[in-house]
Amino acid sequence: DKARILVIGGGFGGATAAKYLRLFSNNTANVTLIEPNASFLSCPMSNFVVAGMRTMADITSPYESLTKHHGIKLIRDSVSAIDPDKKIVTLASGTTLSYDKVVLSPGISLMMNSIEGLTKANQAGVTLQAWKAGPETLMLYKQLAAMRDGGVFAISIPEAPYRCPPGPYERASLVANYLKQHKPKSKVLILDANQDLTSKGALFKKAWAEQYSGLIEYLPSHNVASVDAKTKTLRFEVQDDVRADVLNVLPAMSAGEIAIKTGLANANGRWVNVDFLNFEATAIKDIHVLGDAIQTAPLMPKSGHMANQHAKVAAAAIIAQLNDWPVNPAPVVNNTCYSFVNEQAAVHIASVHQYDAQAKTFKSVSGAGGLSTESSTKEGSYAWGWAHNIWTDTLA
Ligand code: FAD
Repeated sequence: DKARILVIGGGFGGATAAKYLRLFSNNTANVTLIEPNASFLSCPMSNFVVAGMRTMADITSPYESLTKHHGIKLIRDSVSAIDPDKKIVTLASGTTLSYDKVVLSPGISLMMNSIEGLTKANQAGVTLQAWKAGPETLMLYKQLAAMRDGGVFAISIPEAPYRCPPGPYERASLVANYLKQHKPKSKVLILDANQDLTSKGALFKKAWAEQYSGLIEYLPSHNVASVDAKTKTLRFEVQDDVRADVLNVLPAMSAGEIAIKTGLANANGRWVNVDFLNFEATAIKDIHVLGDAIQTAPLMPKSGHMANQHAKVAAAAIIAQLNDWPVNPAPVVNNTCYSFVNEQAAVHIASVHQYDAQAKTFKSVSGAGGLSTESSTKEGSYAWGWAHNIWTDTLA
C-alpha cells in the first residue's frame, strides 16, 4: 500500500508541499491536504486591502487546481490533534485519519496573553491584528476609513522574530499613503519593540522622510505592556502612554497552536526545531514542519517565499525517503521580499541560503542576493509579478 501523506495547512508552505509532493513523485504519492478556509488568502499584498487600494478578491485564490489538476485530496476541516505514537490525526469534525508522514505548515499563533488586556480589547473591537489574511484585514480598513481627519493610527510591533519582518513598515507606509490623500491632518504612529527597524531600515526611513514628513512617527524600543480598551490607550514599561484612534496591536507570535499542542516546540516554547535537510521535526519523527512555525536558520526571515522554499526541499526529501532514493545533501534556497513604500513604488531584499553539512543549518551565501538602492515604480511592478508568480506556483 502507498504511504499516506497528510499535509496540514493550505497556506504558502502546505499548499506548495502538497503540489510538489505530487510533482516529485510523478503524480503517484497519496497526498491529502487539510485546510479550514474555503480559499487561499494571501498575506502578501493584504496591506493594500488595509489601505483601501485593493479588495479581498485581489488576494484570494481558489484551491480547485490542486484537486483537479494535481490529484490532491482536499479536506475542508482543521486538525484538532496529532497522535505521533498511533500516527493518527483527528479533525475538528471528529474524523480520524492515519498517516505515514505529516507535513505541517500551520503558520503562526498570536500570543494574545503577552499583552495585558489585549484579548478584552479585541473582544470590544478596540484592537485588531490583521496579521492573518481574512475578515480582520477588511475590518482594519473599515476602522481606518471611519477615522476622523486628525486621528492617530497606531501599529505596534513585537520583538523579533515575528511573521514578515518588513510587513508592519509596509503597512504603515500604505496607511500613510491613504491618509495623505484622504485625511492629511492624521498621523501614523509606529511603536516598535525593537531598537530599530528589523528590515530595510534605511530604505523605509528615506521614503518616510521624503514622502510622509510629519505623517509617520517612528518610536523604537516601545514594547507594549498593556492595553486599556476604554480609553484606547497603550501602556509601556517606561515610556509615556499612547492614545490612538485605530489600534493595530501585534503581540509576540509562536508556531501555530497545533504545533505547540503536539509537543513540537523547542526549549523557547515558541518555534519548532527541524532537520534542515528534510524539515523533519527534531522532536517527533515523521512530522515535517515548514514555514513561519519553524525556528529559522540565522538570517532566514519568516516569509511566504521562504515557506515555499522549505516546502520544495521537504517534498523532495520525503519522496526520496519513501522511494529509497538518496536525499539531496546540500539544498539551496532563496528569499525575495518586496515592500511597497507607496501605492506604486516598492523596494526589495533578496538572499540565498545554502545548507552547511558541518553546522547542520542553512548559511546565507555572501555576495548573493541584495537590496534596492531606492524605491521605484519598476520594482512595484516586479512586486506584483512576484505575487502572481508565487500564487501560481503554490496553487495552480
Ligand atoms: P500560512 O500561509 O499562514 O498558512 C497556514 C495555514 O494553515 C492557514 O491556511 C491556516 O488556515 C492553516 N491551519 C492552521 N492551523 C491549522 C489546523 N489546526 N488544521 C488545518 N489547517 C490549519 N511574505 C512574503 O514572502 N512576501 C511578502 O510580501 C509578505 N507580505 C506580508 C504582509 C503581511 C501584512 C503579512 C502579515 C505577512 C506577509 N508575508 C509575506 C509573510 C507570509 O504571509 C508568511 O510568511 C506565510 O504565510 C507563511 O506561510 P505558512 O505556510 O507558514 O503559513
